[in-house]
Amino acid sequence: MPTTKSTVALLGATGSIGTQTLDVLRLEPEAFELVALSGGEQLSELAAIAREFHVARIGVISDAHRDALADLVGPGVEIVVSDDGLTSLSQGADIVVNALLGFAGLPVTLAALQAGKRLALANKESLIAAAPLVAKVRSTPGASLLPIDSEHCAIHQCLASSPGQPGFPDVRRLLLTASGGPFRGWTHEQLRGVTKDEALRHPTWSMGAKITIDSSTLMNKGLEVLEASALFGIEVDRVDVVVHPQSIVHSMVEYVDGSVLAQLSRPDMRLPIAYCLGLPERFDHGWGSIDFTQSLELTFEAPDRDAFPALTLAYEAARLGGAAPAWLSAANEVAVGAFLDDQIRWSEIVGVVARVMDRYVADPLDSLDALIENDAIARRHAHGIVRT
Ligand code: NAD
Ligand code: MG
Repeated sequence: MPTTKSTVALLGATGSIGTQTLDVLRLEPEAFELVALSGGEQLSELAAIAREFHVARIGVISDAHRDALADLVGPGVEIVVSDDGLTSLSQGADIVVNALLGFAGLPVTLAALQAGKRLALANKESLIAAAPLVAKVRSTPGASLLPIDSEHCAIHQCLASSPGQPGFPDVRRLLLTASGGPFRGWTHEQLRGVTKDEALRHPTWSMGAKITIDSSTLMNKGLEVLEASALFGIEVDRVDVVVHPQSIVHSMVEYVDGSVLAQLSRPDMRLPIAYCLGLPERFDHGWGSIDFTQSLELTFEAPDRDAFPALTLAYEAARLGGAAPAWLSAANEVAVGAFLDDQIRWSEIVGVVARVMDRYVADPLDSLDALIENDAIARRHAHGIVRT
């Protein structure tokens, strides 16, 4: 157990990762103190969390939300608004948990690292879009970036036996595992008829709607290839994807001598969340623990890149570099949103992203302004394609 108490800011507290982070904090009151939180639309949930954890700083997305929340929490709570508010919350704690959804998480990722904090990152979209900018601020004294995403958390643990020279020359490749989603083994014909209910039913994980849809198209795994490359500084040609339907092996590292290290547990996001909060300590809650006296099936197969072209698109975006990953992620956010709003079919999601990527104009992405502009352009193209 850590000897000193760490303060925690939890951005996106009302979501799937956010509420599971609260579970961890509830069980470790001696180790952590929640000092700031934020959320989107769910104001009564936000107020309830603030009351339970005695949090005096909350971030919301608009002035109207601030006024409505103020009525719920009463005096003595500071409510900050929009990106500047999130930035200030990220600067006021030892550990920042970024559990926001999509590109909206960008200010938190950059501000936490710039302020020399430990960033426990679930919000992969910000890292993927801003990889060159994140690389610069990661070297701020005191800053560290720990991945909550289960695959990357697994790799982080498996890399512990490497001396960790830049680029990990002793590592042959990273093997990201994928459940394969609800449509593993489906034909093109079957995939054309996918319904929203089917796409929202993940076989092994319970998550927010956007990442559940991303898992069904395998775009989540494509985004995770980009995430792994940015996190560990390893080129994408050394990041492979292997389908493992049981979601027990969370990812693997193959070393040049042929050894493969893996991290295993039953699927439970509280395990990677607690790892990122506690490192170098581990907590003994046994989340996801495996009973090896019971039969355990672990199978592996290659992904079907023909039925799930999102993976190939992600590798292409990685090879293009610059702003291409930002375009991919932005176009995907728009396409998934359009699917959830019943504007396009499931089978059209990745096609929208591909058409946006066809219009990509190379940009080295050397500033935040350039990133924001690229994100906006990609979204405009995607909205235009969705409407036609
Ligand atoms: P979610 O939709 O359940 O929660 C998102 C949170 O962000 C909510 O608190 C919401 O109110 C807030 N939010 C959404 N849009 C916002 C905006 N524009 N401005 C401010 N706040 C906003 O999502 P989730 O499943 O918890 O995923 C969060 C992040 O974690 C995503 O990047 C996802 O890819 C990643 N992730 C999730 C899981 C999982 O198991 N859920 C696993 C790995 C990675
Ligand atoms: Mg993952």
